[in-house]
This record gives sequence, structure tokens and C-alpha cells, in this order.
Amino acid sequence: MKLQDFIRDIPDFPKPGILFKDITPLLADHQALVSCADQLAALCPNEVKIDKVVGIESRGFIIGAMIAERLGAGFIPVRKKGKLPYRVNSKSYSLEYGKDTLEIHTDAINPGENVVIHDDVLATGGTAKAVCDLVVASGGVVVQCNFIMELNFLKGRDRLTAPIAVLLNY
Ligand code: AMP
Repeated sequence: MKLQDFIRDIPDFPKPGILFKDITPLLADHQALVSCADQLAALCPNEVKIDKVVGIESRGFIIGAMIAERLGAGFIPVRKKGKLPYRVNSKSYSLEYGKDTLEIHTDAINPGENVVIHDDVLATGGTAKAVCDLVVASGGVVVQCNFIMELNFLKGRDRLTAPIAVLLNY
């Protein structure tokens, strides 16, 4: 099974100059979906018990929850500002143009818990860095950040201090 066959390139989405990596064909294929989650779960550190998998809104929720199920961990959503109903910790970060804010529930992670962070794409790394900061501020230990794919030319991994695992490189 070649997972890259299930990633669709969409030029100029959501704005001119961006080549969007569309994972919906992968999600739509049962074998590809299961294989993707199995492979990422297998790459997670097995020398420590993973307590929580944090998925980043919104595409990180799907495979993130499947990884959590495979690891016997809980799943924690990190969402855009204003979406979570309970008390939150927030982190603002710079985008190419402007700023964005991500939030996590204050009771999502217990101090000392081992956390894996998941998103579909590692691009500039700004989003994953902000989520790492939220987890650390909650008292968690980021044992890995994993992604279906990495856009190598954007050098996002240089912004992350935690170990990184990816299935596909572009
Ligand atoms: P980053 O630049 O690493 O902070 O990425 C920002 C967010 O946008 C992440 O959630 C990525 O999954 C997503 N993203 C960035 N670039 C792309 C792309 N070319 N195709 C699909 N998703 C992307």
C-alpha cells in the first residue's frame, strides 16, 4: 500500500501559491486509513506509556483519535479560539499573515503525562510549536510530534524540540 497515492495535490488552495495536500482520498479508503493509523502508532515511542494523543484542529482529529485508540491512550482536541466549551489555556502564534490562537482545556492533561501530538501536515511548524507550548504549560511531556507528511522545504522541524515522526516527505 503506497500512502502517497492517496494524497491529492490541489494547486492554489486556499490561496495562490499554496500547493494544498488533500488527505480526503486517504480518509475515504478503508485500507489506507487503517494503514496510516497503524504505521503512525507503530512509530510512537514504546519505552514509555503514552497517556494522551493531542490532535490539532481539524484534520489532526481523525488519525489522532485512531492513534490514541491503538496506543490505549486518551484523545485531546486542540481547537481554534472560542470552540472549546470549558476553561482553556490559550496560545497565540504568528502565521504568514497575522496571528492565530489555539486552545486546550485546562484539565485535558495531568502533570507528568506523556503526550504525542498529531497533525496531518508539518509545514512551517508554527502550529505544532504552539501546541507543544500548550502541552508543556499544562505540565505534560511531549514525547513525539507525528504527522502524515512533512513539507521538507519549509524546515518546520527546526522549530520543534521534541522527536518527530512522519510517513511521507515532500
Ligand atoms: P504550519 O505552517 O506547520 O503551522 O501548518 C499550519 C497548518 O496548516 C497545519 O495544521 C497544517 O496541517 C496545515 N497546512 C500547512 N500547509 C499545508 C499544505 N500545503 N497542505 C495541507 N495542509 C497544510
